[in-house]
Amino acid sequence: MGDWIAIGVHLVKHFKGTAEHNSTDGQHLLVTNNTNGTGTAKIDDLLAYLNLQGLPHYLVMAITGSFLIYFGSGGFIHWYYYVNRRDRPQEWKCQPEKFLSPEVELHEIFVGGFSMLIMSCLSGILSCYAMNNGRLLTLYYRWDEYAAFYFVETYTYIHGILNHSGVNIKSFWWQPWQPDTMFHDNHHQYFHVNFGFNIYLWDVWHGTYRRKDRVYSEDIFGGKGKSFEQVSEKELLKDLDERKTENPNAYRDDVNEYAIQDTEVSQIIKKAKQK
Ligand SMILES: [Zn+2]
Repeated sequence: MGDWIAIGVHLVKHFKGTAEHNSTDGQHLLVTNNTNGTGTAKIDDLLAYLNLQGLPHYLVMAITGSFLIYFGSGGFIHWYYYVNRRDRPQEWKCQPEKFLSPEVELHEIFVGGFSMLIMSCLSGILSCYAMNNGRLLTLYYRWDEYAAFYFVETYTYIHGILNHSGVNIKSFWWQPWQPDTMFHDNHHQYFHVNFGFNIYLWDVWHGTYRRKDRVYSEDIFGGKGKSFEQVSEKELLKDLDERKTENPNAYRDDVNEYAIQDTEVSQIIKKAKQK
């Protein structure tokens, strides 16, 4: 979430131009500024020395901005789908039968907000350092040279939010690399599978792309699942139950390619028992 401020710094730098890219000399500032020995002045000197002038402002901006975007975009999705369309989840939800209890929802906001706070601080520090021409950081801030960077940064930011919304959103024709939101929703339902949410090819390459003939769960590690023969009957039945809670509409052509028909189930169980 805190990434937005990094994008902001890029933009400011872009519009200010690169002409005044004269690295602020921290050493110099330290010498000239520390004639007044008050506490705040010392802190200011230290911040200047570290190329972090104005850090508190950046932190405030990073944190408030992140929370505004989080509650703004998340709040909108929540209101639009989870409140207004709660009575017809089949139309929009990846897992229509599953809703969080209010307690778990609050817990989610608390944990999410806390980790966002930490990351926002980090983004604030980095952005401040970049803005003050910190020498350890090379920033890309020219559209003509680094348009791809802006695109990727903004793209992953937006898709990171959408792919975790639990809402059935299909990718566009011009995004052949982009899986539908259901792809990564599978990851949050079965855990060790379908990790990438912007490029499914990563999972194809690593063998963690979901397969119909494999069982995945929170307790099956490694990303490749287990075959029907390898799991216990309990694990198998749990997996088959889970599959039924997936919304077929969230898949292409409204067909859940991982669904197993009841007729197939008895066959699979029989086979599994024989081993
Ligand atoms: Zn995720």
